[in-house]
Amino acid sequence: MRVHVVLFTADLRVHDHPPLRSALKAADAVVPLFVRDTGIAGAGFPAPNREAFLADCLRDLDANLRKRGGRLVVRSGAVAEEVAKVVTESGASAVHLAGDVSGYAHRREDRLRSALDGTGCEMVVHDAVVTCVPPGAVTPAGKDHFAVFTPYHRKWAEEHTRAVGRAPRKVTVPDEVKSEPLPGRGAVEGVSPALAEGGEQAGRERLSAWLRSGIGAYEDQHDDMAGDATSRLSPDLHFGTISPTEAVQRARAASGPGAEAFVRQLAWRDFHRQVLAARPAAAHDDYRTHHDRWRSQRSARKEIEAWQEGRTGYPAVDAGMRQLRHEGWMHNRARLLTASFLAKTLYVDWRVGARHFLSLLVDGDIANNQMNWQWMAGTGTDSRPNRVLNPVTQGKRYDPSGAYVRRWVPELAGISGSAVHEPWKLKAKDRAEYDYPEPLLELPDGLARFKRARGVR
Ligand code: FAD
Repeated sequence: MRVHVVLFTADLRVHDHPPLRSALKAADAVVPLFVRDTGIAGAGFPAPNREAFLADCLRDLDANLRKRGGRLVVRSGAVAEEVAKVVTESGASAVHLAGDVSGYAHRREDRLRSALDGTGCEMVVHDAVVTCVPPGAVTPAGKDHFAVFTPYHRKWAEEHTRAVGRAPRKVTVPDEVKSEPLPGRGAVEGVSPALAEGGEQAGRERLSAWLRSGIGAYEDQHDDMAGDATSRLSPDLHFGTISPTEAVQRARAASGPGAEAFVRQLAWRDFHRQVLAARPAAAHDDYRTHHDRWRSQRSARKEIEAWQEGRTGYPAVDAGMRQLRHEGWMHNRARLLTASFLAKTLYVDWRVGARHFLSLLVDGDIANNQMNWQWMAGTGTDSRPNRVLNPVTQGKRYDPSGAYVRRWVPELAGISGSAVHEPWKLKAKDRAEYDYPEPLLELPDGLARFKRARGVR
């Protein structure tokens, strides 16, 4: 009996899954395998939201495989060693997996290749599973990646994408390969109270509902923080419970300006991935350095804590940071302005903020998180690296009714309209009613410090 192993990583689905499809085509039985990577778990900080969401995804993947006669095999340990063990136990002649972009993923692939070397087991890496257009598929003349989004997007949009594959009808798994018990969300401590449900089924339902009734208004409303009118598909894309290729093709079929704007965001996702694939060090080093001498974490400790806890005294910043803690997710506009506030107004190293985001975001993702932080800190691919977002102006523009702030900063719920963005303007006696901190610093002072540090006028 010919057996192939399918190693699931950031592609926890049965629909549109090229590695699973090709393994099923070539072999009589497959081992659908997920390794709980102790290397990632031990990487330094806990991420309960992603751990809980992952537990949902694994249970759902197992259920989807069972519906087709199969099951998921879960192991814990170092990925290459665990895969090699499963290859020996099952006598597999091939291991299929999705190609991924980070330095960590590349090292994992290299280790796996070495572990399988000499065993007679082939390793097959599939492209266009975790991205729609694989890194390196479109490049500018003479360069290995695009550093500017607009020309990338032009080429990306013209690129032919593969056909979306159906979910398999039948999956046969050899009996002798045993699984550890599946992890459960209930066992994870420190999960955000309003964390979304994970899994392919929930993800596909979110995608269908979005295409049916959300996408049409996306272009006009995506920046409206209170309106919450974005797809919220980022965790599904992060864990691969929906396929980016399928999302792009179904959105294109929906057509209209909303669909176009949404597909453009999916191109941003591929854009950051091709940057990171070409420059893996950008996960921790400045992509384009300004030789910033960031304030020391010790001297800025109180301000960093206030930012993390959502009590900077700037309501739009505080609302975003509290949404992050409560849901494990934050609106994109709030991500932009909270990141600008930390990296530019407070002049704190973007890595401090990126790490905090990664500890809470359910979609926390090395490519999207680090490259967006770099964008906002002006050390990334932004062609206007010294722009600073004013949280009051941003709040008034993108939360004109103040509803987003009132939702997340209940201390200010009694202030109506956009006045909620400037509580310090209230008369002293009214102000005393609100148990809300004074601004951490004056915005012009933060701006002046940043400009001095960057040597700009
Ligand atoms: P939608 O607006 O519906 O967009 C659809 C999809 O497009 C998203 O799910 C996402 O996969 C992709 N996308 C949208 N905006 C971007 C972008 N700017 N860059 C890359 N891809 C994008 N996104 C993450 O997925 N993980 C992160 O860890 C992450 N960290 C961020 C940190 C900062 C400082 C900033 C400014 C942005 C970050 N983003 C991150 C990008 C973006 O904020 C989220 O993808 C988006 O808010 C998710 O909500 P949505 O699914 O409703 O997005």
